[in-house]
Amino acid sequence: MYIPLSRPDISPREKKYIIEVLDSGHLSFGEKLHKFEQSFCSTFQSKYAVAMNSGTSALHVAVKSLGLGTGDEVITTPYSFIASSNCLLYEGVTPIFVDIDPVTLNMDIDKIEKAITPKTRAILPVHIFGHPNNMDQIMEIATKYQLGVIEDACEAIGAKWKEKKVGTIGDAGVFAFYPNKQITTGEGGILLTDSEEIYHLACSLRNQGRDQKSKWLNHSIIGYNYRMSDLQAAIGLAQMERLNEILINREEVANRYFELIADYQLPVTIPHSLPQSKKSWFVFIILLHSSINRDLLSETLAQKGIETKPYFPTIHLQTSYQYRFGYSPGDYPISEDIANRSLAIPFHTKLTYTEQQYVIDHLAFELERMMKNGIENRK
Ligand SMILES: *Cc1c(COP(=O)(O)O)cnc(C)c1O
Repeated sequence: MYIPLSRPDISPREKKYIIEVLDSGHLSFGEKLHKFEQSFCSTFQSKYAVAMNSGTSALHVAVKSLGLGTGDEVITTPYSFIASSNCLLYEGVTPIFVDIDPVTLNMDIDKIEKAITPKTRAILPVHIFGHPNNMDQIMEIATKYQLGVIEDACEAIGAKWKEKKVGTIGDAGVFAFYPNKQITTGEGGILLTDSEEIYHLACSLRNQGRDQKSKWLNHSIIGYNYRMSDLQAAIGLAQMERLNEILINREEVANRYFELIADYQLPVTIPHSLPQSKKSWFVFIILLHSSINRDLLSETLAQKGIETKPYFPTIHLQTSYQYRFGYSPGDYPISEDIANRSLAIPFHTKLTYTEQQYVIDHLAFELERMMKNGIENRK
């Protein structure tokens, strides 16, 4: 038995749309890209949507479109995939980390105001694991100090803060479509905004800085090739048409894990989102008791064909960040503690009940053995 950590949910529709693109002859800036972007505008009631070749590209374009640059500071979380901070470094912006809340694993809102300085220009919340940040409080702080807000909603498509869909609340929001995300385009990302100015800049920046309105091949700013092809958009459009079905299936798979876990008394806790929010299931994370050797557990499960991964290492202790900013262990203790204990177990829409049972039975068996050995070792 081999049970992968994640697996994309591909149906005949994705294949059909890809063939349509190949037959159309328009492999870039064709009909599918337009329809893919339109599907975001209508599903998310967003005025504009700009698809790109990755979530990281879309975040970078968001940072640039908000006019952030060298000398500016942006408040963000250290507990995330590294792209949410790297997009700031590309523009010489300094990420100012605030530690996280140990339950939602999002930025601890109460620590944001203390981190604001005269150089602060924006807040970049990450809706980690599909858990919405408290966007009321973030927007309130942003308004009070006149800061921009970029939502990294790469792991949170379909999640809601109260009645509002995450990714549409700040000045710009970004979703990503790597194959482990809720929906995929192979590689890809999209920027949502209601600002016409951000929209025009984003369109230009993804396409070599080309002017949107004036003559062909007139490049008024330095841009990038961050374009999404129509082959990617074809997959994405089919995925968007199945978004609700996929999100519901993911929630069902998660609920089955909760049921199975309830049969045991596991030395683990499971992070959860705020009660005023609706989470979108990205990965299934367990937080191990601190006495458990995570690497050993992960290796033992791998021998049984169960793939697991430590999600996420904290960004400030990545070698490149320690080297550049002088961070050291202890700087963001909650993020470090969670990073040391979090483990993602197999999670995708194709998981069967039998496979989930297999995962939890083995997990429970190994955890019990490790706890017992731990006690014996201490004697
Ligand atoms: C996936 C992800 C991104 C974007 O990743 P890409 O691989 O560039 O699409 C950004 N931030 C977070 C938190 C992510 O999980």
